[in-house]
Amino acid sequence: MKILALSDEVLEQVYSPTVRDKFGDVDFVLGCGDLPFYYLEFLISALDVPLLYVLGNHDRGPQYTADGRVLTSVQGGHNIHGRVVEERGLLLAGLEGSMRYRPEAPLMYSEGEMRREVLRLLPRLWLNRMRYGRALDILVTHSPPLGIHDQEDLAHKGFEVFLPLLKFARPRYLLHGHIHLYRATPQETQYEATKVVNVYPLRMLEL
Ligand SMILES: [Zn+2]
Repeated sequence: MKILALSDEVLEQVYSPTVRDKFGDVDFVLGCGDLPFYYLEFLISALDVPLLYVLGNHDRGPQYTADGRVLTSVQGGHNIHGRVVEERGLLLAGLEGSMRYRPEAPLMYSEGEMRREVLRLLPRLWLNRMRYGRALDILVTHSPPLGIHDQEDLAHKGFEVFLPLLKFARPRYLLHGHIHLYRATPQETQYEATKVVNVYPLRMLEL
């Protein structure tokens, strides 16, 4: 199983007529936020595979394309924020947005607000554990967990509640975006049973 994960930056190698040559064998695409809707729609039609995504803090619609279209969501994509879904036999859940650094702004969450989003996932995760013997395979987020790949400023601080969620659900991967890497920054960190991966700007996963 091959999964193409993307975040935060439109890449020329992906937004290209040759995308099928490079990525034609992926089983599905995951968007970890802060990607324009037209880019994700392009991938759905070019690769003809499912696309599951969460929104980043900069993904407020409507978005205007060069050819005059107005996009309010990703046509044909599945926004998995606050949901637990199954795709190709894998159990996935999504949590959008970043730490709240502006009051009232959409796609931003205080720690308390994100805790409520996480609590809403728990019944389905519990059910998965009963039914499949595992709660979750991949957690897709925009922001990282607190203390893992995150940064000092409020906008790039990670969510503390992701840590107990990882302890409870024990997914194989947490894929996040939002943190633009500089040289020597770790991109993968093992936490409990989970490999936490900074997707920025592209990661291929083979499972
Ligand atoms: Zn972001």
